[in-house]
Amino acid sequence: MKASFYVTTPIYYPNDLPHIGHAYTTVLADVLARWHRLKGSNVFFLTGTDEHGLKLQRAAEKKGVKPKEFVDRMVPEFKKYWRLLEISYDRFIRTTDVDHEEVVKKALEKLYSKGLIYRGVYKGWYCSSCEKFYSEDEYEEKEGKKICPIHVKELEWVEEETYFLKLSAYQDQVLKLVRDTDIIHPRGYAREIASKLEKEGLRDLSIARPKDRVYWGVELPFDDRYVVYVWIDALLNYLTGIGYGRDGRFEEYWSVVHHVIGKDILWFHTAIWFAVLLMLDVPPPKKVLVHAFIINRGLKMGKSVGNVVMIDDMFDRYYSADSVRYLLMRLLNLEKDVEFDVELLDNMYNGELADTYGNLVRRVGVLSLKKLKGVVRRRELDEELSRTSREVIGEVLELMDDYKISESLVKTFDLLRATNAYLNKTKPWEVEDPEPSLYNAIEATRIATNLLNPVMPSITKKVADALGFEIVEVDKLKYGGVKEFLVKEAPILFKKVKSRTS
Ligand SMILES: [Zn+2]
Repeated sequence: MKASFYVTTPIYYPNDLPHIGHAYTTVLADVLARWHRLKGSNVFFLTGTDEHGLKLQRAAEKKGVKPKEFVDRMVPEFKKYWRLLEISYDRFIRTTDVDHEEVVKKALEKLYSKGLIYRGVYKGWYCSSCEKFYSEDEYEEKEGKKICPIHVKELEWVEEETYFLKLSAYQDQVLKLVRDTDIIHPRGYAREIASKLEKEGLRDLSIARPKDRVYWGVELPFDDRYVVYVWIDALLNYLTGIGYGRDGRFEEYWSVVHHVIGKDILWFHTAIWFAVLLMLDVPPPKKVLVHAFIINRGLKMGKSVGNVVMIDDMFDRYYSADSVRYLLMRLLNLEKDVEFDVELLDNMYNGELADTYGNLVRRVGVLSLKKLKGVVRRRELDEELSRTSREVIGEVLELMDDYKISESLVKTFDLLRATNAYLNKTKPWEVEDPEPSLYNAIEATRIATNLLNPVMPSITKKVADALGFEIVEVDKLKYGGVKEFLVKEAPILFKKVKSRTS
């Protein structure tokens, strides 16, 4: 039976255009989706937009339009950028979708009927950009003002009658899931959440907003004066996306769900989400995969901070979706923030993509056409390249399944470098019989290209077409597996960028 794989991104607030912070998360999820397709799995990939709540209500008011009109205008922008970056999602969910609003209502009804929701008064400091309350030890103080640590802007005092969800009753079960399972990855984040749970406990959460303050949301099914708190609304999208309560495939996909998130939304996706799922009798997620940030001048990118790098900026400099995807994944670090360093990116682009991969493809293409009229038959296999290929395939399989995408790219480039060195050593341009050398060089290029496919889907396809092979499922990838290459062209894959320092 085929394995299954379900991957999600957070759903993004469409109050502004997506920038490379969004792209970082989304490309990571896409690479995992493509990797699992390449392994022959049934894959479902969900992304979308989080369209309710105060932040969007205010963004729409600012533009003088209704919230729905505002989000309807913004959603195509997200879709445009995901198309540009070749994000291969299976569904783009919007929290204003009818099936989602139904799931939210059904879930809230279930929680209410189980006695897990009660009435009370909430007072606290609120950030409308995060859509969350900040406790004393969470906010920062500047000149007597309470400041959101993420948005570096003043918090608002909010005091209102609301409904609470009894999360506290699930504290011990949630702590066990966080501490004693390997759901949260990397483990440093699990320790962080476990220690917060041990220190502060899991407090009941206000899950309703009065309509006179926030009207833009899903109505509470048991009290129409309120809408559902946007975070509860949003988290439930992961259930809606694969047909919760409707579709027979829900259980198959849910059992293998991987939530890809940034570390700023860790608490919601672990402590709170695990408790909500326990309440709904839905098993916890298989994996919550957390990444640190790409930062700029030491801070997380954000409009209010003024240090955003837009997706267009990266396209302007590195030309194609493939190179942007490659560079983002080459930077990828789950545990540590990485600085957006143009010099470093230029060096990776020129040194790895242009000089190593691009140059190799160009060389084997030109030589095959010139020396062998493009027909390169299988000859004796080079032992060293064959062994290196086998090792790299094995290592990449392990690294990718351990979410170490940057490391797997480095490994694959080791093979490309070895192939360039092999060409320099065997010199097919001056020997009488260049076919053995060219066959082995193309064969190693094929193996590397195949492994790079999830990160660079278009360029690898272009290389496959030019050199005359097919991208195959990874378990069919064996050195010497191709009898004959019919080389059609010798493409130039990457145009070098001029380094700013040179
Ligand atoms: Zn905030």
